[in-house]
Amino acid sequence: MSSMIAHADVAGLADERDVLIAIAQHLPDVISLGLGDPDFATPVHIVAAAKEAMAAGRCDHYTHPAGLIELRRTIAAKLARENAIDADPETEITVTTGGQEGLYAIVQALLDPGDEILVPDPRYSSYDAAIGRAGGVIVPVPTRQEDDFDLRPDEVERRITAHTKAILLVTPGNPTAGVISPMHLRQIAQLAIDHDLVVISDEIYEQFVFDGAEHFSIGSLPEMRGRTITLNGFSKTYAMTGWRLGYVVAPPALTQAIRAMKQSISIAAPAIAQWAGIAALTGPQECVAEFRTIYDERRRALMPALDALGFTYGHPYGTFYIFANISTTGMPAFTLARKLLEEARVLIFPGTGFGPAWSDYVRFSVLQPTPVLLEAVARLGRVLRESTGNAQRTSTP
Ligand code: PMP
Repeated sequence: MSSMIAHADVAGLADERDVLIAIAQHLPDVISLGLGDPDFATPVHIVAAAKEAMAAGRCDHYTHPAGLIELRRTIAAKLARENAIDADPETEITVTTGGQEGLYAIVQALLDPGDEILVPDPRYSSYDAAIGRAGGVIVPVPTRQEDDFDLRPDEVERRITAHTKAILLVTPGNPTAGVISPMHLRQIAQLAIDHDLVVISDEIYEQFVFDGAEHFSIGSLPEMRGRTITLNGFSKTYAMTGWRLGYVVAPPALTQAIRAMKQSISIAAPAIAQWAGIAALTGPQECVAEFRTIYDERRRALMPALDALGFTYGHPYGTFYIFANISTTGMPAFTLARKLLEEARVLIFPGTGFGPAWSDYVRFSVLQPTPVLLEAVARLGRVLRESTGNAQRTSTP
């Protein structure tokens, strides 16, 4: 089947993930366990509020560049209620066009050329692109499967230099599904205070924690208030990736710089998404609990299926991913992912998309109904059996 894909179609694309997506577009009936895009529809009450705002003419103009004050107030109330973060909607909250714009604006506003930023590895690679454009230097901080990809404060500490400006935390973590323990977060906070560092805390997956894990917002520590930038959004919590809505919480001076950057990128987030966001935060929250329950059921189904293939993983305490070690297959992650896609039409992302060291890992997302997830793993099992069979045949004289 690979011969059907013209090399020109995939050549020149920047990374392996894009190569796989380009191949997948040419294939019928691909089961995607790739992108982190929830398979649910946005809850109806959120859509209804957006329609109403549009019909009432409330979406026809730019909003305040920092976002509708009504939305910033509902975000402040949510932060107080759920995260124990105290934030002033006038001077400390900025609404962005997705968390993605938020992370880009944060990094550009914060880093000067040569500044070092400590980034847990593996990592959501959009940070690499943003940090690179700011002239910042990524200092990867390794995390390990045997720690369930929690971040160890001693590993952070030993990488702090005179050039370190910031520590990035993504918890729950993409791609690892690890959650940084509250104890470690407190120790990392102390390091930030001792070395005068800013902490960027990406909490996009905060609602999806399982098996007794706890999501803790480092920005809730009073002594961290002046040095924490919290990033969050609506995409994952409310299945709203298409609406493009996120927000950044930062101390006033940093907020000014972030707003300036945000304004030059997109002026303001779309008004319709902002009205939808107000409905999301003020409306019933059962939808979030439902999503959480369904992701939990799916990961509980996927784990034993991966075990049966001989794959191992850090326990997925958070998100809707599993970051699995595939070293028993003897194939590097990209080779396996491409084979799986071309021979069995299942899309997964190789670990190398999240840092060059991770060629023994692949990321599965559980964003398909359980029977489809299990069908994907059955196909993976067939591909592995066939390739072992072929290897045995070719090695037999
Ligand atoms: N941060 C992390 C860790 C993510 O995984 C994502 C999306 N994959 C984002 C930020 C950005 O999400 P969005 O722009 O949809 O809010």
